Amino acid sequence: MTVAFGATVVGRLAPSPTGALHLGNARTFLLAWLSVRARGGTLLLRVEDIDGPRIKSGAVHATLEDLRWLGLDWDGEPLLQSERFAQHRAAAERLVLAGLAYPCVCTRKEVEEAASAPHEGGEHEPVYPGTCRGRFTSLAEAEAATGRAAALRFIVDVDAVPFVDRFAGPQPGRIRGDFVVAKRDGLPAYQLAVVVDDAAQGVTEVLRADDLLPSTPRQLLLYRALGLREPQFAHVPLVVGGDGLRLAKRHGDTSLRHLRDRGVAADAVVGFLAATLGLRPRGARCVPAELLPGFELATVPRGQVRGDDHGLL
Ligand code: GLU
Repeated sequence: MTVAFGATVVGRLAPSPTGALHLGNARTFLLAWLSVRARGGTLLLRVEDIDGPRIKSGAVHATLEDLRWLGLDWDGEPLLQSERFAQHRAAAERLVLAGLAYPCVCTRKEVEEAASAPHEGGEHEPVYPGTCRGRFTSLAEAEAATGRAAALRFIVDVDAVPFVDRFAGPQPGRIRGDFVVAKRDGLPAYQLAVVVDDAAQGVTEVLRADDLLPSTPRQLLLYRALGLREPQFAHVPLVVGGDGLRLAKRHGDTSLRHLRDRGVAADAVVGFLAATLGLRPRGARCVPAELLPGFELATVPRGQVRGDDHGLL
């Protein structure tokens, strides 16, 4: 029997069902699974299906099927983020009432045009110049006065939110510009939804790819503003193609579906991923559970991983 010291870790798999899972997503999910399961923790599944039009029908089912095929499991029923819009909205309204967020009627184009230094906000977003800050007292007033739908933007009055990442180490947490927590169409922004749901699910470890590192300072500010318990973050290297860019269709089809359709077995895919993690020699085959004994996140290689030369086909 394992003796648990301190609280049990609660992790999560949080796929966006926007298309077929590829080797990059699979590696991150395998790591999230290993990190939690190796410590006897609880692993939850949340489907991040808030992006309306980008979500293809049947994609949720396909995503779960891909995860199961790899041999990853989770505890309890999957949570669909789209079923929690009321909770996201309530959190956004609490921020407005507390004077921490405000209605903003600026379009994306206006923000881009007004930004003095585009691409400095992280995630290739221009820095919001503050046009609507202090302009309206309520959403209703903003919409009546301008005839436009309003988003809700969170006020950022700091330059940085430093934090220590469990994998990537100390981070400066640079942050610039007020950011959107509720979109103009009324749907929650990713930054808010992820915080509200991780907190509601009692998540204590968020392990994800390091393209989301720039989002973490924003999310930390939201945890603090809403009085929620912050999880520990672990950002692992993104899988890239030969050009060093995030793995995408142009690097060839690395979707699990494609590999499976071509007759590649799940244990060959997991073996390939294990080799990129330094846990197995290249060409080995294994199932996720075989990687658990002695697994330590700290031993995972730190460099970016190439996923297009997988040699599986
Ligand atoms: N749903 C996001 C993705 O698939 C992950 C969000 C997160 O882990 O915070 O990229």
